Amino acid sequence: MQDGLQGVLKGQKIAYFSMEIGLRNEIPTYAGGLGVLAGDTIRSAADLKIPLVAVTLISNKGYFRQKLDTFGTQTELTEEWDPSNLMTRLQQEVSVKIQDREVKVHAWHYDCESLTGGCIPIIFLDTSVEGNSAEDRRITDYLYGGDQAYRLKQEIVLGIGGVRMLEALGFKVRKYHMNEGHSSLLALELLKRNGKECDKVKELCIFTTHTPVEAGHDKFDYGLVKDLIRDENDVDILRNFGGTDRFNTSLFALNLSNYVNGVTKRHSRVSCELFPGYSIQAITNGVHSYTWTCQYFRHLFDRYLPGWANEPELLVRVGGIPDDKIWEARRNAKKDLIDEVNERTGAGMDYETFTIGFARRMTAYKRATLILSDIERLRKINRRGKIQLIFAGKAHPRDEAGKQLIRDIFKGIEALRDEIKIVFLENYDMDLAAKLVSGVDLWLNTPTRPYEASGTSGMKAAHNGVVNFSVLDGWWIEGWIEGVTGWSIGPQPEEHLTGEEARLAEINDLYNKLYYIIIPMYYERKDEWLKLMNNSIGMIAYYFNSHRMMRRYVTHAYL
Ligand SMILES: *Cc1c(COP(=O)(O)O)cnc(C)c1O
Repeated sequence: MQDGLQGVLKGQKIAYFSMEIGLRNEIPTYAGGLGVLAGDTIRSAADLKIPLVAVTLISNKGYFRQKLDTFGTQTELTEEWDPSNLMTRLQQEVSVKIQDREVKVHAWHYDCESLTGGCIPIIFLDTSVEGNSAEDRRITDYLYGGDQAYRLKQEIVLGIGGVRMLEALGFKVRKYHMNEGHSSLLALELLKRNGKECDKVKELCIFTTHTPVEAGHDKFDYGLVKDLIRDENDVDILRNFGGTDRFNTSLFALNLSNYVNGVTKRHSRVSCELFPGYSIQAITNGVHSYTWTCQYFRHLFDRYLPGWANEPELLVRVGGIPDDKIWEARRNAKKDLIDEVNERTGAGMDYETFTIGFARRMTAYKRATLILSDIERLRKINRRGKIQLIFAGKAHPRDEAGKQLIRDIFKGIEALRDEIKIVFLENYDMDLAAKLVSGVDLWLNTPTRPYEASGTSGMKAAHNGVVNFSVLDGWWIEGWIEGVTGWSIGPQPEEHLTGEEARLAEINDLYNKLYYIIIPMYYERKDEWLKLMNNSIGMIAYYFNSHRMMRRYVTHAYL
């Protein structure tokens, strides 16, 4: 085990810190897009042999397993898993101070290996060790679980414990990359190690923000901060760089990083307005092409565009693949999904019907129910050309509005039962995501603007020739060419409508485009549909992948 680490200990590394990382289904240490992005980052770094080491929490009880009753009411079951089946326990021990206790932190080691021979070590921090109190042992149990105090303890372990563990393991770190503000306490540790010289720390730190609205940024009352971090000098530093009223983790990271970026061009502009006076660059997100391309398209690309997986730019030449081969891959992927849906739900969906997919975290701003706003119009669309809908997504245990969305979808399913087949698949995870983004015909995305900093599932869909139909927010502003790469829903990026005006415009556009453009094209003009499938691959996937993204991080931030 120690030998396994030898090879990767040489040379300097980028230390990539993330509260959640989605590596594979069996490692349930992710909740949604942020974690899956971290996983894609690591996979691309492995393929490209970028010297990187990742740090996260072990989340011994995972996020949660979703169970839904017949009304769509969600209950959360603990996701029991055993890291020892998949990773190795390391000998090293470090500690972090919480209140007056020295909380011991151990680590697990997992290697993300690439077919290119690259390999990225991931360090999972764990406090469930002998010598810690029962309460402290639980700090690394639940991803995004517990109250503010629990979260701050996790952030102490991740940020401060993470820096110490990397050192204990012998890693030489040249840059610390914070994926969202959760790990920003690492900068506190670095300040203390660098004689409180913030210029030195800034030289070391990179911060990627993912939140486009003020309320989304993690903030802690100083009463709580002082209770957990008793050292007055430390708290002074936090106030100095992280805000005087409350400790704002994003602000802290922002003040202590020389390179800061948002995850799309729009998001970095919005972030600049949120934090005036800071320079915030843009590196648009991407997804790991090989991971999110289904087997049928992998085979096709391997045959016609060899090398595509490590050079996704080659997808620009998708036009060289015979049309019937593209159709065949699409049909096979759709069949796999429909079979899975029927097996899970008994819904009796068929392979021919136009299938719309919507799967993401169930939270208010994503507006999963927008397409169900007007049941009568949906019926009319279904008479123009038959449709079926597939939903999936977990609501955070304390997100009541998100949970209500699931119940509302179930009501929609009931209301349309006799005419339109609609299903909600339980327990959205990476494997189900892969099936969905490759199996449907149209990938729907209806967030409230400007809340979607990026969004990535539409990029996954594009890799499989699945066409995007989305509100102009996040990445879609950069990917969208109307009628060429897919379709927009609602106002143009620069149009400023009020909340209700925008919503009505979006609903109208959504139904009108389905009725007049999308459904007729799918059923009656297959050649035009094929062109959109091709363009999804050749004009979206070739660019919106994490290989391009990581090369940007290397040249703009890491070097
Ligand atoms: C890709 C992915 C997401 C992110 O989807 P968005 O459309 O960006 O919200 C969330 N969860 C899982 C499991 C994913 O694979």
